[in-house]
Amino acid sequence: MKLALGCIADDYTGASDLANTLTRQGLRTVQTIGVPSDDLALPEVDAVVVSLKSRSIEAGLAVSRSRAAEKWLRGRGAGHVLFKICSTFDSTDAGNIGPVMDALRADSGDAIVLVTPAFPETGRTIYQGHLFVGPVPLNESPLKDHPLNPMHDSNLVRVLARQSKTKVGLVDLATLARGEASVRARLAELAGKGIGAAIIDAVFDRDLETIGTVALDHRLSVGASGIGLGLARAMVAAGKVRSNVTHAMADVAVGGPAACLAGSCSQATLQQIANAEKAMPVLHLDPDRVIAGPEEARRALAWAKERISDGPVLIASSSTPDQVAALQSRHGRDAAGHAIEQAMADIAGGLVQSGVRRLVVAGGETSGAVVDRLGLPGFLVGAEIAAGVPVLRAVGTKSGEMLLALKSGNFGGPGFFSDALKLMR
Ligand code: ADP
Repeated sequence: MKLALGCIADDYTGASDLANTLTRQGLRTVQTIGVPSDDLALPEVDAVVVSLKSRSIEAGLAVSRSRAAEKWLRGRGAGHVLFKICSTFDSTDAGNIGPVMDALRADSGDAIVLVTPAFPETGRTIYQGHLFVGPVPLNESPLKDHPLNPMHDSNLVRVLARQSKTKVGLVDLATLARGEASVRARLAELAGKGIGAAIIDAVFDRDLETIGTVALDHRLSVGASGIGLGLARAMVAAGKVRSNVTHAMADVAVGGPAACLAGSCSQATLQQIANAEKAMPVLHLDPDRVIAGPEEARRALAWAKERISDGPVLIASSSTPDQVAALQSRHGRDAAGHAIEQAMADIAGGLVQSGVRRLVVAGGETSGAVVDRLGLPGFLVGAEIAAGVPVLRAVGTKSGEMLLALKSGNFGGPGFFSDALKLMR
């Protein structure tokens, strides 16, 4: 198998977002958790997104992990690699976007790299090198107060230059609007001056298509899901991928028992649980007992085992904001959250051991704990249950076929659990 596109994402949720975007554009896409082992068995796919947690770690570590991911992707034939960053360019003057870009550029041999975090459909646009978050420049957006990467400068040419060894130039919107040839000429001009990276403006989706087409001349690009969209469309247009076969593999039925877990306490999830009561047996965990010890998780597992052969079940730790606040004041916020996440992971592990093959999880942190516990190396991305929530088919597992849906709290409509199970056959 030869990959058309390799991606290295600097955090997990960004990786999921990109994998989902690529799939929506027709690329058969697998998201892996960390750099895969050399012997990971993959189905026939067009793109692999390697999820790292390298956004806020020490720069040297981010570089070495990203290079390991790149080596794996190139080894699978990826001609083009996208280093996926946050659409708000989350970074500091110490990195990690610049140092990782520099290292990957050296490995790729490219004279110049196109860089754009633009993603117009989520309000991220770039003009004259300045990143806008909705109607305001980056430095006036809530990102100015980000706890890890406060962004005080909207001019990405300056921001990137401060963290990169290379000089940084700009391809402005006027050049972009004149088309691919004009962008190529501008890049050649910048590269001729020894400039190794170019921030490129983008305001509309069509700008991303031009950028994607030109980026494919190169071996490396840097950006958010927007440039992923542009690259994917350019690949489909150039016939490098067969977009009509996208969901064929991801959507093959696996059968077997199904279960849902809810650890999110968001309004949306509370309503989805209330709706699920009409469709399946629901067990509400006692959060104090969960924190007290493993007995509550064992009780839940025994309850589920008695029922899963008759149809799906839902186990929820979720409670209302008042109850959450009271629990947190008794046990501390982090301790309570962590204990409940680990209990959910225990329950997930027990369910899978008992034969569950279709698992729906509500809650971002809860999903992370469950995926870690199940030790799943990666997922093939399938049909979308709700905006941003695809069906995932586990790949490279030792324990057989499995389908998952992982949703962050606020996602999905009122009937989410039933909607998910309808698509996860
Ligand atoms: P979301 O996607 O809605 O943010 P997460 O799973 O990311 O959901 O976060 C929910 C957090 O709340 C987790 O740490 C989870 O363990 C914790 N939690 C779950 N149920 C309760 C509860 N009843 N009281 C307090 N915290 C809870």
